[in-house]
Amino acid sequence: MKLIFLGPPGAGKGTLAAVVSEVYKIPHISTGEIFRAAIREKTPLGLKVQSIIDSGQLVSDETTIELVRERLEKDDAKNGFILDGFPRTIAQAEALAKIIGIDCAVNFDISDEEVVSRLSGRRVCKACGKNYHTDYMKPTKEGVCDKCGGELFTREDDKIESISKRLDVYRAQTAPLIAYYRERNLLKDIDARPASEVILENFKAVFPPEN
Ligand code: AMP
Repeated sequence: MKLIFLGPPGAGKGTLAAVVSEVYKIPHISTGEIFRAAIREKTPLGLKVQSIIDSGQLVSDETTIELVRERLEKDDAKNGFILDGFPRTIAQAEALAKIIGIDCAVNFDISDEEVVSRLSGRRVCKACGKNYHTDYMKPTKEGVCDKCGGELFTREDDKIESISKRLDVYRAQTAPLIAYYRERNLLKDIDARPASEVILENFKAVFPPEN
């Protein structure tokens, strides 16, 4: 299954993608997470994109497309994948179509108010990248990752000024992809408001797992 998860930041794409990746045994490819890992490791890519990401802007199409092209060439992506956060512009969608055809773009439907509440409460593990929330998904011990014991922090781009910038960028550059995929009969809407377990059940009803 070759899927795109489309929707504003904070819609729960990454959370659902992590579970779907396990259930359907296809890799979860998050361009945001690839960039954040590069920033953590201080690679040349990380140094190049850090200030862009912190300010809530998009990394250039050229850099992002090349990154995804290389990632999709790896063996584990041959039987399918979930692209989370890519494409984010029409140019990226057109480039992807030349690399590989997809089965479906899943559009996560959610209001701006809900996005702001989710992102401003999000906390992320510095060491392993696992996400938490101050209200909905608390760690057992405040400020500490349940999975690896790493320190939890607020992403620079989850601070309020960056959230509104990211929503503006989403509306201007990414939301047009909804019509793009709808016109190609590749779009499925999913209600992103319920708890993640409910969204997973709804997802399975639309895309039944093979076993
Ligand atoms: P995310 O974790 O998907 O919210 O991505 C975090 C940040 O990484 C975004 O705000 C962008 O700065 C950058 N980014 C992730 N994916 C893309 C993409 N497809 N195109 C351009 N920039 C991206």
